Amino acid sequence: MQAQHKFLRAIVISLGMVLLLSIISAAVEPVPLPDIQLTAADGTAVKSSALPTAGNWLIIYIQPRNQFSDNLLRLLKKDQYPTLAAHAVIIVGGSDAGISAGLRARELDGGCEVTIVVADRFPNYSICGLPFFLSGEVQDWHALAHRTIKEITAAGMRLLLDCTVQAIDAASHRVFIVDERKQARQLWYDRLIIATGAKSVRPHLIGLDLRGVFLLRFMADAFAVYQHLEAQTPRSAVIIGGGYIGMEMADALTRRGLAVMVVEHAASVLKTVDTSLGSLVSAALAQQGVNVETGVRVERIERDGTHLRVTGSPSFQVAADLVLVAVGVEPSSDLAREAGIEVGERGAIRVSRRMETNVSDIYAAGDCVETWHRLLDCPMYLPLGTTAHKQGRIAGENAVGGAREFAGTLGTQVVKIFDLVVARTGLRDEEARQAGFTPLTIETTTWDHKVYYPGAHEVRIRLTGDRETGRLLGAQMIGRVHAEIAKRIDIFAAALFHNLRVEELNDLDLSYTPPLSSPWDPVQVSAQVWITHLA
Ligand SMILES: Cc1cc2nc3c(=O)[nH]c(=O)nc-3n(C[C@H](O)[C@H](O)[C@H](O)COP(=O)(O)OP(=O)(O)OC[C@H]3O[C@@H](n4cnc5c(N)ncnc54)[C@H](O)[C@@H]3O)c2cc1C
Repeated sequence: MQAQHKFLRAIVISLGMVLLLSIISAAVEPVPLPDIQLTAADGTAVKSSALPTAGNWLIIYIQPRNQFSDNLLRLLKKDQYPTLAAHAVIIVGGSDAGISAGLRARELDGGCEVTIVVADRFPNYSICGLPFFLSGEVQDWHALAHRTIKEITAAGMRLLLDCTVQAIDAASHRVFIVDERKQARQLWYDRLIIATGAKSVRPHLIGLDLRGVFLLRFMADAFAVYQHLEAQTPRSAVIIGGGYIGMEMADALTRRGLAVMVVEHAASVLKTVDTSLGSLVSAALAQQGVNVETGVRVERIERDGTHLRVTGSPSFQVAADLVLVAVGVEPSSDLAREAGIEVGERGAIRVSRRMETNVSDIYAAGDCVETWHRLLDCPMYLPLGTTAHKQGRIAGENAVGGAREFAGTLGTQVVKIFDLVVARTGLRDEEARQAGFTPLTIETTTWDHKVYYPGAHEVRIRLTGDRETGRLLGAQMIGRVHAEIAKRIDIFAAALFHNLRVEELNDLDLSYTPPLSSPWDPVQVSAQVWITHLA
């Protein structure tokens, strides 16, 4: 009797199991796995499987390409499945371009695996802010971070800090990296974004490696200068190079109480603007006690007791406690070139307007690439933070399937030197002439706001337009710090972007209140003066 009971119970259980299994298998649908995203280049690095559940939900199991994070177990709605791209996007460089690329890729494709390899420990720091840290205006260097490491990782990006990409093997979609312990490893990518930026030009002069001689590009450079300022309390500085970094540092070091000399090879400082504006900068520097020597080629720096001696021609010699060499930047493109990627202008990586290099699945952005000039309709090398952010964003978008194009640069830039602001956008007279235009450049002096309201100051504007078509080609401007110079040059930049004629600037509906402007903004006053000269 008991045996019969056991037998019946076994039959009921078996029937129950069969019934349960058939219910499960009825709910289960076979789910095709996407091909490209989840298959490694060598066929082994990625495993994935979908464990379908009933209804609209799937459990997806992914073993990431590069073994940095845990395997992913994701619960997704079935219709989200195609968006689970699981692209392995590797970004070389974690500054303006690299982080912008990673953010955009993650924004558009929450399933992509973004790994950012950064040669130092300072991802997403504003190196544009270094002069203001060294001046003491920004006291804590941590404040220079656009985003903290925590914020970057919270956005879904994996950071490999103190790691350098040594080589790229485009054929097998691998990069070879060396970490801070000198250990080598390799990473697989579906898409690679090169955002290696630029480095300071090291001019051919003797003594560049002496103690007390500095370049300024990376956080480490700034720490070295800072350390020297704090520990050695230098009293004098020579800045070699009168470009915008030289100007900002002349301001910074003067603020710290050093006697500063700027030595420039050209006839005036700040060659990005015409001499008439450059000479106003020289005058402002002199007013602040900065010595400016133009037309001097520095040849050597030597140690002379406790000082450094800077020698150049014609017959130039000066002693200083600190020397800063700021003679420009060059693209960091060796890694790309060695991987067979084409370079162009000044050795910068050649990219399409979609930020694609000539090698498939490899994009590049920022100071390491050529930049498309919107007016000249050709590539040039114009490294700026604004451009790096835009190009990075485009590279990130296109790396996960987008098709966005870079709209081009106009070379819009601004610099603050003591209480002067100097800005430019578009082409100067000579540049326009070389590009085949028939330019007319007119300089206008007007007021930043209504003169009856206290604190009005002069603004100088050099406006360049085409004589034949009336088209706006460029503008340069100089004024005091509260004269809205930056935003006024942006009006010109917006007008240039939309190919406005000079005359059309007068049609713009610009804001006005006496403490800030005039019914005709200085931008429009300069346009009117230009038109009268054309007549
Ligand atoms: C003092 C100073 C002031 C500036 N002021 C302004 C300003 O006011 N306005 C403006 O528009 N621009 C300014 N700039 C320029 C601006 O900072 C740059 O245009 C911008 O930083 C470029 O960003 P990027 O990401 O292309 O390159 P970078 O900022 O140069 O970053 C390159 C990144 O790549 C990493 N890297 C390089 N090689 C490797 C490798 N092999 N492996 C791993 N990682 C690597 C580096 O560690 C870094 O993270 C200034 C620059 C300086 C130095």
